[in-house]
Parts: sequence; structure tokens; C-alpha cells
Amino acid sequence: MHTIDMDLVEMTLDVMKYTIDRISNITPELGSPKKEEELLKMVGETVTPKGIGGENAFKMFRDVLVKATVPIDHPRHLAFVPAAPTRAAIMFDLVTSASSIHGAYWMEGAGGIFCENQAMKWLVSLTGLPEGAFGVFTSGGTAANLSALVAAREEWRNKDVSHIAEKGLLLTSDGAHSSIQAMAKVMDADIQIITCEGENLTGKELKAAIAKLSAADRKCLFAVVATGGTTNAGIIDDLASIAEVCETEKVWFHVDCAYGGGALAAPSVRHLFNGIEKADSITIDPHKWLFSPYDCGAVIYKDLEMAKNAHSQKGSYLEIFKDEGAQGFNPADYQIQLTRRLRGMPLWFSLAMHGTEKYRDSIERGIELAKIAAKKIEDRPYLELVRPSSLSVVLYKRKGWTPEDYRDWTYRNHNAGIALVTPTKWMTNGEYETISRFCFINPDTTEEDIDMILDTME
Ligand SMILES: *Cc1c(COP(=O)(O)O)cnc(C)c1O
Repeated sequence: MHTIDMDLVEMTLDVMKYTIDRISNITPELGSPKKEEELLKMVGETVTPKGIGGENAFKMFRDVLVKATVPIDHPRHLAFVPAAPTRAAIMFDLVTSASSIHGAYWMEGAGGIFCENQAMKWLVSLTGLPEGAFGVFTSGGTAANLSALVAAREEWRNKDVSHIAEKGLLLTSDGAHSSIQAMAKVMDADIQIITCEGENLTGKELKAAIAKLSAADRKCLFAVVATGGTTNAGIIDDLASIAEVCETEKVWFHVDCAYGGGALAAPSVRHLFNGIEKADSITIDPHKWLFSPYDCGAVIYKDLEMAKNAHSQKGSYLEIFKDEGAQGFNPADYQIQLTRRLRGMPLWFSLAMHGTEKYRDSIERGIELAKIAAKKIEDRPYLELVRPSSLSVVLYKRKGWTPEDYRDWTYRNHNAGIALVTPTKWMTNGEYETISRFCFINPDTTEEDIDMILDTME
């Protein structure tokens, strides 16, 4: 299986050709899902005792299966939070695989971890956190949030042994991402949601919510989660006033910037994140707005030691790593995963190749595209802007449309290969209403792309 034969050579050529073609193609075919039975009928069973051959298997992927996927970097894929990895990052993702580096400990991964840490140093510099703050790349925002919140709870329990028997409570807003509730469940922590209904969370509301807690709940409060760019609307909580409350109340302050984190590099909006430099931990997803391929998240801590207390794994088979690795940074000590891909390496290579100014400009372009789209919406009588664009998100309505109309329009445009734009819900006058939403990431999206989509709503 590991010897070099002709099949390997053919397969390698196929893979390289496909990869080069795919990354050169700015508007790949907008695929859509098919039923599993249908796919099986088209390709047959692919895993067999003798194997079907690399050329054959690759052909099935290239000609059938990949067409049942949505290329997330398509310039008219404006649904959810899209991604637009740079060509450099994609190519280096192949290099990362080919190099077979174990990314848990410095002992085995030093040169690769060095690359990751160079990229991390830049990310940390964007946050303004004090000297000593640092972070580590994770599989995504969910894993980053979990890692940060586990560190927060551990710190809370270390501070007071009577907390060990307590469940722990975290406070967040209704703008927080679904992963916060999901990870609270994983941790078996309680969660209370402060209702903001489309406004950002401020210190004042947080203070009021804490004041309303019972004495028992107040004792259990171990973290506050603010959002630096809500996934639905791009809204940034008032981080400075929240930081102040957390400081007074001595509660861990986590800022989830999984989507919005890239905007820390954008001078036009950087001031909206003021106060983030007071955070105890921050989540940023390079696979969202920092042009990295999937999957790459990041968690950053003000105090790395606290994270190490929570996450460092102990085992007799790991001791050698601790001895030899003591001279270097061990990513396994700061998040939930042991064996890990060096998933920060593609980001590093792309940053090293292009420089941080190109990143700044590409992120600013996403913000600009959102403003351009908002203007185009206002200029069309059949559309209505729900609120001014925020970061790269635009919320708008097609006058007179029902939720079914939005759904049908989404499917129609997707099936026709025009665009993928999905509806969301937004609270207006105390009721949730179905509306349409754009999220811009790809700097190659054009004004014509936006017109093309909006025209299909007339
Ligand atoms: C996307 C997102 C997450 C989850 O990140 P994954 O990378 O999908 O795990 C968490 N928080 C926010 C604000 C997000 O936008």
C-alpha cells in the first residue's frame, strides 16, 4: 500500500491537476446535494476488498461526488459564514499533510509549531492583549470556545475549593452563537441568556442580570461570554463596559470572535472592538474571515498558565514530551485535543507570502461589499434594508414575501447555479420575521454578483 507504483503516479498527477484547476477557477460550479441512494447509484460501492484503483476513485470524486457539494468560496455563496481560502493557504494545506508532522508537542513538531506561532503572534497583536498572552490553533470556533470555557471553570474552581462541588454558570446574550449553549451542555455547566433582541449586550445589562441572580447562582457564575460579531447580524457587544463589569465582579471574560475576529485587522471597524484587550480569552476562526482552508480555529488566552492547568494531559507515555519539549511550546497543553494537525500552517504560509497588509485590505473589502449591497438594497423599491450593514453582514427584506417565498427563492437560485443565499430570522416589533441575509467574506465577489442576486428577487 505504501510502495510506489504506477497507480500512485497516475493518482498523483490527477490530484495535482485537479487541485491546480480548482484553485485557478474563480467561479466553480455551484453544486448541490443529492440523496445518498442517488449518489450510490452513480458511483457504486467504492470500498472493496481489492480496491477500485486510484484513477477510478478519483474520477468518481471529480466527476460526481464533488458536484454534490457547495464550493464555499464561490463569489455568490453568501449564506451562513462563507470562506475564501487563499491559493497559497490551500497549497500549503497539501504540504502540511505531506509533511506528516505531529502537532501536539515541540519535541516532534518544533519547526511546524514555530510557523503556527508566527501566525499566532500576529493574531494576538491584533487583540491588544498584554505581554504574555498567547494562543493555539484548534479545529474551529466550537473547540476554541470549549477550551476557553473549560479553562475558565478550572480557574474558578482553583480559586475556591468549595466550587468543586458546584456546577458552574455562564452568562451570555441571545446574540451568542449556538456553540456556546452546546458547549455548556458538554461541560455540564448552566447557562443563562440575557435577551438583547438585536441590540448589542452592554455592561449595564450584564450588571443588571448579575444583580438579579440568586445568591446560589451568583456563587456559581464563572464566565461571561460576549460576541465580537454575531453570526446572524455582525453585531459587536460593548466589550469595554462588559470588561469593566467582569473585572469588578471577578468573573472570566470570554469574547467569541469566531466570525468577526478577522475584522480586528480592519482599521475602519477596529474601534468597535475596544475593550477586547481586557479579555481573559478570545476565539477567532481563521477558516472564516482570515482566508484559511477548513478547519482552523484559534483560542487566545491572557494567561497561558491558566489554560495549561486545565488542559495539560498527563500519562506515563507522555513524560518524554514534557522533558524534551520543555524548551518549546506544546500546543496540546492549551486546548482539548492531543494529537493534532498543524492547522495553523496554511495560514502562516499565506501570511508570510502575502504580508498582513493584503489581509487588512481583503477584510476591508468584505466590509465595503456589505455597504455597497446595503446601498443597492435601499435603491430598489421592492427591497427593504432591515438595519445598516454590520461588519460584513447585511439583513434585508423582499417586501411582501412569506417565509415560503424566501425558501423557494433560495432553492431556485441554488438549483439554477446562480447563488446560495439563505434566509434567517430577525426580531421586529417583538416577533421573529423571516428575512434575507448576506455575509461577505470573498474579496472576489463583485458588484455585478450582488446585482445579479438582487435582480432575481424582483
Ligand atoms: C461559526 C461560529 C462559531 C463556531 O465555530 P466553528 O468553527 O463552526 O466550530 C462560534 N461562534 C461564532 C460567533 C461563530 O460565528
